[in-house]
Amino acid sequence: MDDLQFGTRDKRGNWAPSRTLEIAPFWTGKFSKLGSFALSYLWPWNIFYMVMALAYWFFLLEPNLALYQSISLAGFGLLFAANAGVIFAYFGGVELLYYTRRKQENRFKYNAKFPSENPSDVFWFKSQNLDNFLRSFFLSIPMWTIMEVLFLYCFTNGIHALGWLEWEQHWVWLVVLTLLGPALHEVHFFTIHWLIHQPPLYKWIHSIHHNSINPSPWSSLSMHPVESFAYFVEIFLHLLIPSNPIVALFQSKMIGFGALNGHIGFDKLEITEDAAVDSHAYAHYLHHKYFEVNYGGEGLIPLDKWFGFWHDGSKEADAQMKARFKAKKDRLKAKAAAAEARG
Ligand SMILES: [Zn+2]
Ligand SMILES: [Zn+2]
Repeated sequence: MDDLQFGTRDKRGNWAPSRTLEIAPFWTGKFSKLGSFALSYLWPWNIFYMVMALAYWFFLLEPNLALYQSISLAGFGLLFAANAGVIFAYFGGVELLYYTRRKQENRFKYNAKFPSENPSDVFWFKSQNLDNFLRSFFLSIPMWTIMEVLFLYCFTNGIHALGWLEWEQHWVWLVVLTLLGPALHEVHFFTIHWLIHQPPLYKWIHSIHHNSINPSPWSSLSMHPVESFAYFVEIFLHLLIPSNPIVALFQSKMIGFGALNGHIGFDKLEITEDAAVDSHAYAHYLHHKYFEVNYGGEGLIPLDKWFGFWHDGSKEADAQMKARFKAKKDRLKAKAAAAEARG
């Protein structure tokens, strides 16, 4: 595909889309865009996470629910093997096709460079790939699995603030809640993400994730354990609101597998010569590039816009961001000067 029909490439080879990011159309009154928004909301990513949640539930968890009535190593082991296996195949597949074999070279790639071309001391073994891979499999996936085991323990023991709901009687609400899952996630993610950007939490916790300025698939779950705890604890929202284990599992799979989207590094993944899927990676790519913008997602609940952190990729947004950074720098300088004057 010709990526220059969809964007521009600068002197260094970095590609940027010509269309700027837009928050969900119901916030801006662009109701004519609701149809295409709804389609891209569901297809293909959220449908894929739903299929994964159903597959986990019907083939793996429901037949083995007895394992989760108590906290056991067997229950953890089974779920960890599945989570690690699927992540290995899924993230690894994207890595293999688009980063190792470079199936579409750097077409639609925001950053012209591939991480393997840039060895850096900030990473274990100087390799972003190896560092991110090991952190995912030895820290984040175990944390994710622990959260899911605890949630299954609560479900099998009937623990819920208001009681678990059955699909037969409450299917309308459960469908609505499933559709609201990504919105719940955006609010939760924005909140914890903004928090861990504040000093000293940033230095202690979140800087590890941000070592990857040019993120790639393995960067997705490369986090400090405190961050992965705060990230995956989201599933417990379904113990506070009326819910069902399948909806809770959808939430969990959406955030576990969906972490990939922000870190794909390509705007579109070419499937055939003239068909491609949108990665929805740009908002979070800009976050990795500029740090203090786009703490949430793509503006389903546009908290970034409301709090002044939104960067849609345009020149105007860039100028606003620079002005905000300068004002912050000036404030800090003035504070330091005042402290010095006080002695
Ligand atoms: Zn990230
Ligand atoms: Zn961040």
